[in-house]
Amino acid sequence: MPYAITQSCCSDASCVSVCPVNCIHPTPQERAFGSTEMLYVDPRTCISCGACSDACPADAIHPIETLTGPLQQYAAINAAYFGEIPPPGDPAPNFHLWDQPEPPRPLPSTPIPLRVAIVGTGPAGMYAAEDLLLHTNAEVTLVDRLPSPGGLLRYGVAPDHPATRKVADRFARFHDHPRTRTVLGIEIGRDLTHEDLLAHHNAVIYAVGSATDRRLGIPGEDLPGSIPARRLVGWYNDHPEIDTVHLPAGRVVIAGTGNVALDIARILTTDPAALRNTEIAQRALSVLEKHQDREIVLLARRGPAEASYSLSELLELQHLAGVDLVVDDHDPRIRAALAEPTNAKAAALRDAALETIDWASTPKPGRRIVLRFYTTPSELTGHDRVRSVRTTDGLDLNTELFIRSVGYRGTPIPGLPFDEESGVIPNHSGRVTDRPGTYVVGWIKRGPTGGIGTNRTCAKQTINTLLTDATTGLLPPPPRSRSSFPRASFPRAPVPRRSIPRP
Ligand code: NAP
Repeated sequence: MPYAITQSCCSDASCVSVCPVNCIHPTPQERAFGSTEMLYVDPRTCISCGACSDACPADAIHPIETLTGPLQQYAAINAAYFGEIPPPGDPAPNFHLWDQPEPPRPLPSTPIPLRVAIVGTGPAGMYAAEDLLLHTNAEVTLVDRLPSPGGLLRYGVAPDHPATRKVADRFARFHDHPRTRTVLGIEIGRDLTHEDLLAHHNAVIYAVGSATDRRLGIPGEDLPGSIPARRLVGWYNDHPEIDTVHLPAGRVVIAGTGNVALDIARILTTDPAALRNTEIAQRALSVLEKHQDREIVLLARRGPAEASYSLSELLELQHLAGVDLVVDDHDPRIRAALAEPTNAKAAALRDAALETIDWASTPKPGRRIVLRFYTTPSELTGHDRVRSVRTTDGLDLNTELFIRSVGYRGTPIPGLPFDEESGVIPNHSGRVTDRPGTYVVGWIKRGPTGGIGTNRTCAKQTINTLLTDATTGLLPPPPRSRSSFPRASFPRAPVPRRSIPRP
């Protein structure tokens, strides 16, 4: 029985390199890599050896016969990716052949190991550390401004996605690696400068992600009760810098339908009893237990086929126990899009409950999520706090909590260039423009898109650039030793080893 890749696929392609028959696609050498929502196993060529399952850091690959409940759909989802492609053995195209192997990359031959500081210990920084530690003799200093490492893996991934969080296990060993030093609680630009880092290292890699949120630029956006998605996510993930959130009973309105918005909608409507065995913050769980009737309204500026969420996140909402998923039937384009779907996301909504909603009435008791397509907020109104969200099509939605989940945005690092328009540090293949010895990886390099595994190929590109620079003499030894790099005054917090479920 062949295997199938399921919902928690992190797309980092660890499975691709161990597959003996090349049945997992797209591979990093194929053009589609990075543009698909996940990777897929070709059921026609899979030999059921299980090597991919063992290598998967996110526990996403299982034999089809063992899939249960909503995961059963992934057998068809995997097969559908290969639907139009002739099976191997047919004369064309050569989809199932490996591309030319990459030439071996240059490694510096200096007797003194390279010293590299990596700022940020989320997935982008850790994939970069992994590449350096496994493939070179470099010494790595990991720096994070928070007292615990992990970045988005710890404070961004939803607590009910333990398989995705499990990717952190892959990185835990690099914190204790003999060539690694981990320095926590230091912010570059506040406690130390970029020059301080360069004085002790040949190179510095910034993997600081996108530290702030995009804004909508509408009146009332700063009223109490209007918060960015990051705040809600940090609240339920116990982020040390994020205060408690006032979660009212009743309706919550979210602008945006990316995967972050769907994560929030799911956490706010899941039966709290089902969240008890996850790593959700106790403060959030207590509030969720208090008021269980809740309506989440997701405002999507585009239609069912174009919205940014991925199919797997949408399917998860459809299968949430005790939660109705409703599509507001307010615009004729919605029926048309669902009647003749142009992609799997629209097709998945074909059987959803279409309902013409009377927004003036109080939400019914119970838990439900409403998708309202072709709608953008235009103003938030209220004296003391948000009381209502007005939309461009004239709707007024009463609510005391409005969450904008319209994407993240990078912030400048003192001493480095910054592109205000795109919110990234300008770079060429990871090398920061006009700053020798300085590199970027992850969202601060390419903008806030892509899941965890996308960072693996991104990190590989940056490390390739760095090693090429090292072999061509562009990374001279730093004037000061690594051991004199300040750390003693900063307490080291315990490094998480495994996700331990709450008893
Ligand atoms: P995102 O995917 O870029 O979604 C942003 C949302 O905001 C989209 O729905 C977008 O509309 C909407 N939007 C943007 N500007 C707007 C405006 N001016 N007015 C109204 N709506 C606006 O960002 P994200 O949800 O923050 O996620 C960031 C990245 O993390 C994504 O790559 C995501 O896939 C990834 N992520 C993945 C997972 C997972 O795999 N489970 C979980 C969380 C995050 P359109 O839809 O019309 O573009």
